[in-house]
Amino acid sequence: MSSALTMVQEQLDEARRLMNLPDDVYEVLKYPRRVIQVSIPVKMDDGSMKTFIGYRSQHTEVLGPCKGGIRFHPDVTQEEVMALSMWMTFKCGVVGLPYGGGKGGVICNPRKMSQGELERLSRGYIQALARNLGPDQDIPAPDVYTNSKIMAWMTDEYAKSRAGINHFGVITGKPLVIGGSAGRDTATAQGCVFTIRDAASKLGIPLEKSTCVIQGFGNAGCNVAVLLDEWDVTIQAVSDSSGAIYAEKGLDVPALIRHKEETGSVLGFAGAEEISNEQLLALECTVLVPAALENQITEDNAHEIKAKIVAEAANGPTTPEADEILEERGIVVIPDILANAGGVVVSYYEWVQNQMGYYWTAEEVADKLQTTMEQAFERTWSMKEDQSVSLRMAAYLVSLERLTEALELRSWL
Ligand code: NAD
Repeated sequence: MSSALTMVQEQLDEARRLMNLPDDVYEVLKYPRRVIQVSIPVKMDDGSMKTFIGYRSQHTEVLGPCKGGIRFHPDVTQEEVMALSMWMTFKCGVVGLPYGGGKGGVICNPRKMSQGELERLSRGYIQALARNLGPDQDIPAPDVYTNSKIMAWMTDEYAKSRAGINHFGVITGKPLVIGGSAGRDTATAQGCVFTIRDAASKLGIPLEKSTCVIQGFGNAGCNVAVLLDEWDVTIQAVSDSSGAIYAEKGLDVPALIRHKEETGSVLGFAGAEEISNEQLLALECTVLVPAALENQITEDNAHEIKAKIVAEAANGPTTPEADEILEERGIVVIPDILANAGGVVVSYYEWVQNQMGYYWTAEEVADKLQTTMEQAFERTWSMKEDQSVSLRMAAYLVSLERLTEALELRSWL
C-alpha cells in the first residue's frame, strides 16, 4: 500500500515533469517546512493520566499562512499528517487562496472518549502548539472526527494562551455565534457537488435521474448525499465505519440521517440491504464519492470501479497506480485538491470575516463559493484540454504555476 506521503510526492514529481519545471521546485516542495510533534497528557474520567501524541505539519508559507484541518483518529501518523498538509498547499493553489498547507492530527479514538476527555485533549493540543499557531501563522479547522464544538474549545484555549484576547481568525469551522461563517458546515460538500455538476456537463452526462454511491457518511459524505438528493440524483449506497448499505431504488436521505443520529450507524436502515465496502466501491453508478479516508481505490480494486465519475470528497482516496488504471478505463476522477476545496474556500471566507469583524449572509457566502469553485473547475478543465493530461495533473499544474511564481518572486528557489 502506498503511503500518503509517497503518493503526494509522486503526484508532485509527475506534475513537475509534465510542466518541465526546474528540479528546485520539487526539492523545495517535496517535504513540509516544519513538522511538530507534541505529547498531550490528559486526565481521564477514571482519574488516570493518559498521554496522547499529536502532530502539526506546516508545508509552506510561500503563499501566506498555513491552513488545514485537525484529525482525531487512531491511525494518524506523522507521515499522513505531512502528506495531508502538502495536499492542502496544492488545494489552496488550485482555488487561488492566499495560504500554504497545514494539517494536524492526534492519535486517539474519539468514539471511545467522553466529552470531558475530548475537551481536555483538544485544549491540551492547543496549549502545546499555541506559539506555532495564529491568524497570520497557521490556521486549523475541522477534519475527520473533529467538529465545530471541538473548534470552539480550541479557539477558547488559544484566547487563554494569548492573555484572553479573542483571535477568532486562528481557527475556522467555529460555531456561528463565536465567529463562524454561514455555510461552513456544508461547504466541502457544496463545492464537491458543483464540481460533479460541472464535470457531468463537460462529459454530456445528465445528472437528473443519475445514480450516486458514497463511501463515508460524515460531514463531507452526508452533505453530498443531501445536496445531490435535492438535485434528483438517486443515492443508491452509502457507508460509514460500521459498514455499507444499498437500495437499488435509492435511499431516503433525510430518513437515513435521522436513523444515523438515533443509532450511530447507517446499518439497520429499513429497506436497505447490507453490502461490503468492496461491493460498494464496485457498484455500477454515475458518480462514486469516496468521502472517508486515504488509500481506498488502489491497483487491487480500480479494475472493479464502474462509476463514470469519481469525485474525491476525501483526501488521497486514490493511489497513483489506481489513477492510471481509471484513466485508461476512461473514468474521470475529480481530484481531491479540487473536489473537496469548498471547505477551505469557506474557511478562508470565515478568516476574512474574522479579520474584518463583519459577517456575510448565507447567500453572500454561497454566491462567492459558487463563483470560486466554477472558476477553479473551468481553469482546471482548460488546463486538462490544453495539456492533454488527467484532471488531477491539470489541477497540480494550475496550482504549481502560482506556487512557482511565488517561489521565484520571493527568491526561494
Ligand atoms: P467526518 O469525521 O465528519 O466523517 C468521516 C466519515 O467516514 C464517518 O461517517 C465515518 O464513519 C466514515 N468512515 C471512517 N472510516 C471508514 C471506512 N473505513 N469506510 C467507510 N467509512 C468510513 O469527517 P469528514 O470531515 O467528513 O472528512 C471525510 C474526508 O473528507 C476526509 O478525507 C477529510 O480529510 C476530507 N475533507 C473534509 C473536509 C471538511 O471540511 N470536513 C474538507 C476537505 C476534505
